[in-house]
This record gives sequence, C-alpha cells and structure tokens, in this order.
Amino acid sequence: MENLSIDFPEFLPGTVWIVGAGPGDPGLLSMLALHGIQNADVIVYDALVSKEVLVMANDGAEMEYAGKRGGKPSAKQIDISERLVELAKENKRVLRLKGGDPFVFGRGAEECLRLAEDGISFRIVPGITSGVGGLAYAGIPATTRGANTAITFITGHTASGDVPDDINWEALAKGSPALVFFMGTKHMGRIARKLMEAGRPDDEPVAIVCKATLPEQQVLVTSLAKCEADYEASDLEPPALIVVGPVVNLREQLNWLNL
Ligand code: SAH
Repeated sequence: MENLSIDFPEFLPGTVWIVGAGPGDPGLLSMLALHGIQNADVIVYDALVSKEVLVMANDGAEMEYAGKRGGKPSAKQIDISERLVELAKENKRVLRLKGGDPFVFGRGAEECLRLAEDGISFRIVPGITSGVGGLAYAGIPATTRGANTAITFITGHTASGDVPDDINWEALAKGSPALVFFMGTKHMGRIARKLMEAGRPDDEPVAIVCKATLPEQQVLVTSLAKCEADYEASDLEPPALIVVGPVVNLREQLNWLNL
C-alpha cells in the first residue's frame, strides 16, 4: 500500500469525524476511514463495529464505547452527542465510529446537528451500508435490470420500539419490488402480515441475512408466510436484515461466498 498517493484531509484537533465502519468485514473499510481511525485521539464507537476495525486505532487513542455494556442501559443518543461536543471542546481529534453507513439508520444526522449547533466542524466519512454490502455477501444484488429496478430501506423498529406507523404499506407493497428491513427481527411477523395484507404474495421469497460479511454470517431463505416461524425455529441471531422480493431468488446462482 506504500505507493498510494492519496491526499487525505488533515484531521484537525477540535473537529469530529463521523465515520462508517462498514458492515463488519474489516476489509470493507474505506481508506479515508482508516486514515481517520489511525489519526484520532479518541474513538467513540458503537456495538456493531468489529474488533478487527478497532485494533487499527493508534496505540495512544482513547477508546470509548457508546453502546450497551454489562447490563447497564445503553448510552442515550443525547448523551453521546453531548460527549462528542465535550471531547471536541477539549481540542481532541474525535472520531465517532458507527456500523455500516452513519447516515443510514445510524443517527449520524442527529449527532451532526448537535455539533453544528455549537459550531464544531465535522466531516462525514460514508461507509458501506449493510443494506447493500451485507446483501452482496449473501449473493443478493440490491438492484438488477430485470428483477428489481427499485429498492427501499425501511426501519422495522422506531425510537418507541414499535413497527413504524407512518409507513404507507400499500404504497410500499405496490411500489417497491425489493424491500430491506433494518432492525426488523423483533417484529418480523407483523411486518410480513402487513405486506401480505397489502397484496404481496404469501410465497414471496424472504432472506434473513444475519451477521453479514462476518465469518459467522448466516442466511435463511424463507417466504413471507413462513418467515416468522422459520426464524424462531432457527438459531440465527441479530444483527439481521430482512430482504423481501423476487431478487432473493438470485442467491441460488450468486451465492459466491459458499461456492
Ligand atoms: N448504519 C447501519 C445500520 C444501523 S441500524 C448500516 O448502514 O448498516 C442496525 C441494523 O443494521 C441492525 O439491526 C441490522 O438490521 C442492520 N445491520 C447492521 N450490520 C449488519 C450486519 N453485519 N449483518 C446484518 N444486519 C446488519
């Protein structure tokens, strides 16, 4: 990698970089993310960030965990944002490390808004979202010219812990051939029923992609009618994506990981 001639931006003290670490496989980290990780004074990281990524940090960097730990309640979003402000005001190079992409169900925007409020400079380093990269590792393309010309990312879990009620399920069912639910396993049965009520066929293929891009990756292919029961009967564990649509069938030919 010595012959790389990339003019990386300088990581200035008193600024915050909001960085996406990708879905898990450390090789999927961007070069700019790696540059930031190696130059940060403090890294505030989430539960979904792999250990293999964290060990790339500078020996002297402080590592702060912003997720649930040892049964303690998870750090509240507001506390994390305040902590970023505090660290930046201590004139540190602050790196906020998140799984996937920081702006895809990652609350990156909320943190940036808080930083902007205090006039703290920040940079966004996009990451590969699990919604695209995780699917690719399962042999499921996000779009294809034939099977799906549109894809929708949906959260299966709102801040209140419920299935989002501001979704127009009919429009979604009719308008988007491929649907990817993040944080959806808890409400899988309800999600599947809403889609079937809105007109998606009972035997529509569903893939549940767990721990995507990690060595423990597992994929369960099922259908809308059977996904809840099949998931419960399995030993699969989150994080998981639920992919709904005919494009799931391409996995039969495109599952390159286990070829
Ligand atoms: N910003 C992240 C999403 C954070 S929300 C991104 O862009 O990927 C957390 C949800 O993301 C999880 O509940 C799960 O649905 C999904 N997710 C993140 N990493 C995953 C992985 N490696 N495998 C499967 N799902 C993952």
